Amino acid sequence: MAGLNPDFNDIKANAEARVHYENAARDKAARVSSRAPPPRYSDVYSSGPLHRIIGVRLPCKPRSTLWDLSISDGKIASIEPFVSRPHDIAHLPGVLVGTERLLAPSLCHAHIHLDKCFLLQDPKFLDLEIETGDFTEAMELTTQAKSRFEEDDLLRRGRQLIEESIHFGVTVMRAFVEVDGDVQFKCLDAGLKLKKEFKERCEVQLCAFAQLPLFSGDDGGEKIRDLMSQAAHREGVDVVGSTPYVEQDEVKMKMNIRWISMMALFNGKPLDLHLDYNLEKSKDPLIWSALEILKGRNWTEREGKGITLGHCTRLTLFSPEDWRKLKEEIGDLPVSFVGLPTSDLFMMRAESRARGTLPIPEMIEEYKLDGAIAVNNVGNAFTPQGNCDPLSVASLGVAIYQAGTKKDAEVLYECVSSRAKAVIGVPSTSLDLAVGDPADFVLFDRLDIGWRCRTTITEVVYDAGPHRQTIWQGKLTTL
Ligand SMILES: [Zn+2]
Repeated sequence: MAGLNPDFNDIKANAEARVHYENAARDKAARVSSRAPPPRYSDVYSSGPLHRIIGVRLPCKPRSTLWDLSISDGKIASIEPFVSRPHDIAHLPGVLVGTERLLAPSLCHAHIHLDKCFLLQDPKFLDLEIETGDFTEAMELTTQAKSRFEEDDLLRRGRQLIEESIHFGVTVMRAFVEVDGDVQFKCLDAGLKLKKEFKERCEVQLCAFAQLPLFSGDDGGEKIRDLMSQAAHREGVDVVGSTPYVEQDEVKMKMNIRWISMMALFNGKPLDLHLDYNLEKSKDPLIWSALEILKGRNWTEREGKGITLGHCTRLTLFSPEDWRKLKEEIGDLPVSFVGLPTSDLFMMRAESRARGTLPIPEMIEEYKLDGAIAVNNVGNAFTPQGNCDPLSVASLGVAIYQAGTKKDAEVLYECVSSRAKAVIGVPSTSLDLAVGDPADFVLFDRLDIGWRCRTTITEVVYDAGPHRQTIWQGKLTTL
């Protein structure tokens, strides 16, 4: 019987098929681990494209139903009710037996710093411990670490971050690499190498990023502007970005936005700014000037690419009227927001001990703004806690935004999946998994989880669990 309540023979066939698949995966893992030196990824993951994924639960279908997907050219070609077949279909190349697990759209890092991850754990930087835990210290510790960055540690840490992310279900990320007079192009070059190394398993979109001022400091920012101009022309650099709030005064903050937006527009690249990172009512939000500058550049008429604004914690003090005004001022500019709650909760503190992070679900639903949430930093003085799992941020969102309903959970999932992909301008797969969508998925759990096997998006957002398989463009990217 197809679809509802598969009978005992279906379950048995499915279980046998699963055992076959898992044995094959284990044998493969054993072969891999016995090799020396460690294999290249292309050796491990050369299983070829998948044509079918059978017997899975899907996010927008009743949880008691099972489904078969066929894949063609890296896209979903059909979705049909699960049909019991002779179990040797599982032996055919290109067939993945889903064994009643939940198949959902893959995950995305809309914003993650590739070059300064794992500094609190990497043996090379163990002397750089957090003592006060504030923003000034985070900048100081990171500056010290950056002065010691070399290709080997950049590759080691960055590779770890991408690898762990893939295992959590990530298929695409916007990765920030800093460019300045100290690191010059070290971070960027390592990022370019990693982008190439992982090109079969994950899309790494690189953002050349000026974390330091573009107009303040001893040389008035001349050196960093020169390096950023060169970076913007480099092949493989997809996005340019900066941090206007690090400039010494408001005039220079606006100069920063004018300069970097020109750089993005002239090079046909998206723009990504860390903006309004404070919780002070007395400080005027810079976003109004930023929008004025961008509109003054005739951004839309000149077909400028996406504009992403990260942090923006100052906006949490907005009234409903301010939010409506913001929506109006944005108009047809391609502006979207990325909330970075794990960093914001640790870094942004008011005297009153209040915390603040962009209310992304409310901005989406109430004010019709575009937004996503993201991990930002892993294992450094800006964000010591947490890991590379985008769903850990979605899960935290349940508490932060008091978003516990099924609908809330779906929005939170989208914020680390389809909405995150839209923010960084890449095609996405909807929760409906429509025919024609990219075959980019994450398959949750393992069969031995038993009744705890997650069957809905709500369960996954509450507690995603550690076991996942990732599929990108119709190919498995994890074992
Ligand atoms: Zn950031």
